[in-house]
Amino acid sequence: MPPTHEVFNQPPPLTGYDVADDPAMLSALRREGAGWARDVVRELGRLAGSAQVQEQGRQANENPPKLRTHDRFGHRVDEVEFHPAWHELMTVAVRHGLHAAPWRDARPGAHVARAAGFYVWGAAEAGHCCPVSMTYAIVPALRHAPALAGRFEPLLAAPEYDFGLRPPEAKLGLLAGMSMTEKQGGSDVRANTTRAVPVPGDGAGSYLLTGHKWFTSAPMGDLFMVLAQAPGGLSCFLLPRVRPDGTRNGMRLQRLKDKLGNRSNASAEVEYDEALAWLVGEEGRGVRTIIEMVNITRLDCVLGTATGMRAGVTMAAHHAAHRTAFGRTLADQPLMAGVLADLAIESEATTMAAFRLAGATDRAVRGDEGEAAFRRLALAATKYWACKRAPAHAAEALECLGGNGYVEESGMPRLYREAPLASIWEGSGNVAALDALRALTRQPETAEALFAELDQAAGADSRLDQAVVRLRKELADPSEARARHLAEAIALTLQGALLVRHGDHAVADAFVGSRLADEDGSGTLGWGRAFGTLPAGADTAAILRRATPAVPAG
Ligand SMILES: Cc1cc2nc3c(=O)[nH]c(=O)nc-3n(C[C@H](O)[C@H](O)[C@H](O)COP(=O)(O)OP(=O)(O)OC[C@H]3O[C@@H](n4cnc5c(N)ncnc54)[C@H](O)[C@@H]3O)c2cc1C
Repeated sequence: MPPTHEVFNQPPPLTGYDVADDPAMLSALRREGAGWARDVVRELGRLAGSAQVQEQGRQANENPPKLRTHDRFGHRVDEVEFHPAWHELMTVAVRHGLHAAPWRDARPGAHVARAAGFYVWGAAEAGHCCPVSMTYAIVPALRHAPALAGRFEPLLAAPEYDFGLRPPEAKLGLLAGMSMTEKQGGSDVRANTTRAVPVPGDGAGSYLLTGHKWFTSAPMGDLFMVLAQAPGGLSCFLLPRVRPDGTRNGMRLQRLKDKLGNRSNASAEVEYDEALAWLVGEEGRGVRTIIEMVNITRLDCVLGTATGMRAGVTMAAHHAAHRTAFGRTLADQPLMAGVLADLAIESEATTMAAFRLAGATDRAVRGDEGEAAFRRLALAATKYWACKRAPAHAAEALECLGGNGYVEESGMPRLYREAPLASIWEGSGNVAALDALRALTRQPETAEALFAELDQAAGADSRLDQAVVRLRKELADPSEARARHLAEAIALTLQGALLVRHGDHAVADAFVGSRLADEDGSGTLGWGRAFGTLPAGADTAAILRRATPAVPAG
């Protein structure tokens, strides 16, 4: 066969690179107190960027989980089957302690180290990060039931991925899920109808739960935090998929959702039929209890979003560095350089905020009340804004690859389909913005902590100083209809302050010049409405150097 054409002007494969070669992340890791974890994070970064792991990510998504409700004899099994690639990815994540391990690690910075691992390893594949994240998040809520925490926490933190249907205490390691959303409402969980009936004469706080849940992700887990109506009101329960005596609990998987993205992961509709569960916290205080789990998963929403942005900008910058059009590489074309730099700025700002929040989490769980107050407001606002930016960011990064970006094997469609999810779950956009508003109005100390943080950047950049003044005025009118404005302003000003204090100069200057500068005091920023509209003078070449991956030759 004669060759029909020669392949040229295509970039080399983006494999064999170190995902953790990420200056914003590495400096944040050190700054937030986990410099000691650098080698492990680099190891995970090399693994995530390897051809083998990228292939596992592809396979896990192209072979989505299958629900097996019954065995061949007609017995219910309610199990989910996964491609081996999923199990490989899960094994690495759990071995590296990206699940509940930091809760059993006394080293200051343990939660930051875990955040860095999660951020880097998430580039391999996003879907499996869901059960990993929920297993991380369940611990603070579970501690409202010290006896249950004593039983299960060591197994939730164990570095063993032990898939399958067995009683929790017969396994080497456990995974957790969260079961709140019902058909009639996910944001408004107080409308839950699942009933919880106390088991008479039982001293262990056992209840039987009956009802349905419209979304329960990772239903192949071992333990679930479930909301249900007890005699004393909406309450939180820990529900095992297999009872301690080895019999199956009344947890029936009805269907798996056919989702836009996140296809490697299973999300189920569940019926509970007198399912055994144990009370966590007090009856009637279910929301207060489970919100501790939600608050931790929100951190992972921000981290996961930062991962997606970094992956998008890496793929885009790599392509543009190797592709020529009209006689020059794309990266050297001023307009494309501006687009890439704008994407890179957004990515770095999100990474900086995510790690500041991971650091605040680490210090808050060790008793730092100031950091807890800062985290309360800053996380709600950042969850709103970062996740809101993700789909537009992914779409623009995809477009940098032209038609190739629209084709599945580029990896961009997977990134794009995943992008809206973090904004939906754990408090959809409006709910996250309203949560920031609630923190402002009910816990004034959260605003004080935020401004104490912003004030540390005072005097370094007059455009930022003016933005802080504007933010103070904005927060003086905390009306519900303006909640999105408020959350956006908080998140952007925080990102600007972090970049000015700790970031690369070119990145900080372009961020503040585009997102925060109000040169003529008109309230209109110099930035356009699409990516790629940075003000003149932005040092795009310096910004791009930080985003372009080093791929081994050959
Ligand atoms: C892939 C996937 C996996 C999921 N996994 C889980 C899981 O494991 N466990 C679980 O419990 N849930 C899970 N969910 C459900 C998810 O948490 C809910 O979909 C989400 O909380 C929104 O609830 P809802 O779908 O009922 O929408 P609704 O609550 O009906 O909200 C619809 C819209 O109205 C807005 N809204 C709501 N209240 C207000 C208000 N007061 N003011 C203004 N706007 C408002 C929301 O922001 C949203 O945009 C999952 C969802 C998805 C997509």
